[in-house]
Amino acid sequence: MTKVQNLTILGATGTIGVNTLDVVARHPERFKVVALTASSQLEKLVTQCQQHQPRYAVVLEESAAVRLRSLLLDAGLKTEVLFGIEALEFVSAMPEVDTVMAAIVGAAGLRPAMAAAHAGKRILLANKETLVMAGSLFMQAVAAGGAELLPIDSEHNAIFQSLPREFAGDLAACGVRRILLTASGGPFRTLPLADLPHVTPDQACAHPNWVMGKKISVDSATMMNKGLEVIEAHWLFNATPQQIEVVIHPQSVIHSMVDYLDGSVIAQLGNPDMRTPIAYALGFPERIDSGVSALELFGRGLTFEAPDYTRFPCLKLAFDALAQGGMLPAVLNAANEVAVAAFLAGQIGYGDIAPNIEYALARAITGEPGSLEDLVEADAQARRDAAMHIQKRAA
Ligand code: NAD
Ligand code: MG
Repeated sequence: MTKVQNLTILGATGTIGVNTLDVVARHPERFKVVALTASSQLEKLVTQCQQHQPRYAVVLEESAAVRLRSLLLDAGLKTEVLFGIEALEFVSAMPEVDTVMAAIVGAAGLRPAMAAAHAGKRILLANKETLVMAGSLFMQAVAAGGAELLPIDSEHNAIFQSLPREFAGDLAACGVRRILLTASGGPFRTLPLADLPHVTPDQACAHPNWVMGKKISVDSATMMNKGLEVIEAHWLFNATPQQIEVVIHPQSVIHSMVDYLDGSVIAQLGNPDMRTPIAYALGFPERIDSGVSALELFGRGLTFEAPDYTRFPCLKLAFDALAQGGMLPAVLNAANEVAVAAFLAGQIGYGDIAPNIEYALARAITGEPGSLEDLVEADAQARRDAAMHIQKRAA
């Protein structure tokens, strides 16, 4: 009989959070939800509390906590409401929790993920920004805290599944030549280049294969998502930029591959449904039902293309930021968040996203971050620079 795993789900109301709860609900004998967190969508959070009966529900703002308390009371629930970043850290580190699903979007996910690492939790990491911003410090915290890191991002989960179980940070020792990181190419892969500057947020968010939050959908359109994933792969698998090759595979059936010295390429395939990587990590090392249907292979073609940096300048910016290292990946991430938010709000065009990030990168402080505070400062500076660039464009 497997021990019941106690879970904290950070970002419970988001796409990953909802998919996680879907898998969890299929295995009541295996999982117990202890804490759910969200920053908005309180009604949805209440419904989740009704279904999963967590001990804690955490929101960011005090005003949201007041509203949530009254909604929970009306629903006759005893869930305790906490708020603020310290509360997010608390539910990520508390002793009764075994596993933390880190599925907050953006830089806001960093501190709770760090808290889980220091506390030695099993961390199911969806929040790639944690590794992009603070890869070195986060991996150190994971090692020092004795935490276990399981990647949720479908590509990294696929790579994890395709590496030998004994992999311990040395790709060469396992006979690995390259990591082949697949990308769908997003909704604008074949759009005439001249039309790119005029695409709308709705078009950018209409991903051909995956249903995701808005920010990551825009990142998929620009391929910044793949750029962030290259940096994520660097930290998770101790891979140099030269060991990571991005392969456009529009069907999103192969979720990534590992190329070995003997010529073998091991891949993980499946329907594009995040419940597969989530179930893999929740059940690890066992396989559990995820609710995802069996992959239908007949009548399908699988194709591969090289990425084009003229169409996807953000991918190049990410490779360059990784090669230069230090604070630059954090700056890249912060400026991208500002640029994507401005694009979604109609303040800048799609074609302004990459120049905006370049502007912030050119002004960034270089050098290795000594502490989380250094990164927070670089992040804040990058946000100011990116905002300045947006204002200049508007003027
Ligand atoms: P989402 O926007 O759907 O959900 C984000 C969740 O975080 C929500 O619960 C929201 O309330 C919460 N949140 C937002 N801002 C917050 C803040 N400032 N403080 C605390 N909580 C906050 O996002 P998503 O698509 O579920 O993605 C979550 C993370 O997983 C991202 O880092 C994303 O890159 C990564 N990821 C997502 C997918 C996917 O298929 N959706 C795939 C791979 C990786
Ligand atoms: Mg991914």
